[in-house]
Amino acid sequence: MTRPAYKRILLKLSGEVLMGQGQFGIEPETVARVAGEIAAAKDAGFEICVVVGGGNIFRGLAGAAAGFDRASADYMGMLATVMNALAVQNGLEKLGYDTRVQSAIPMASVCEPYIRRKAERHMEKGRIVIFAAGTGSPYFTTDTTAALRAAEMNCDALFKGTSVDGVYNADPKKVADAVRYDSISFDQVLNDNLKVMDASAIALCRENNIPIVVFNIRETGNLATVLAGQGVATIVQ
Ligand code: UDP
Repeated sequence: MTRPAYKRILLKLSGEVLMGQGQFGIEPETVARVAGEIAAAKDAGFEICVVVGGGNIFRGLAGAAAGFDRASADYMGMLATVMNALAVQNGLEKLGYDTRVQSAIPMASVCEPYIRRKAERHMEKGRIVIFAAGTGSPYFTTDTTAALRAAEMNCDALFKGTSVDGVYNADPKKVADAVRYDSISFDQVLNDNLKVMDASAIALCRENNIPIVVFNIRETGNLATVLAGQGVATIVQ
């Protein structure tokens, strides 16, 4: 299937992607591999910014279920994304790529605060910008952050790297004959309650005409392939 060519993209990496084979936390080899994926895309001429999740370390909902106050738990989750962002930055810098981490929760001695115009300038200069700490507000997710930053940074598309190769009509890990869509509308994703991203992220992308490309990031080389309009993925538009 051919997909449109994009110039500037936002890559959403869930925290779980960074766990690799582990059950928790950050696996250095996986960070290095994911950094390589981003680097290959950069080499192919794309402008890239990244939103990282934190689910490999801490999720607000799980924290709340365990007895923490929801808002406090969400702040803990946001701090977890900063650790992941620093890991990805480190991976990219080891490969020689210029990157900046911008956090929605200012922490001056660790990274830059999120300033849209500054992020824009970094991207114009060819740097890879990694957005950390979600939106900076509890009760949101990093999926919503990805949609928000994609809109703010005028990205042509949001690439959602997952452990499956697209959007299916049922969970392919549970239903053997689940069918993958090549293309699907925002409305159908919302109406059928398909688990692509949370509803607020989908709605934000729909409102701002930002297509979401769902692809398997666990397959080495796949980001560059899908960016080239080849390979297997689902486009939500
Ligand atoms: N979070 C938040 N506000 C945001 C983004 C994230 O409160 O704008 C918190 C929330 O608790 C969430 C955690 O940070 O569970 C980690 O983010 P997420 O679950 O989206 O990470 P992912 O599933 O992508 O690894």
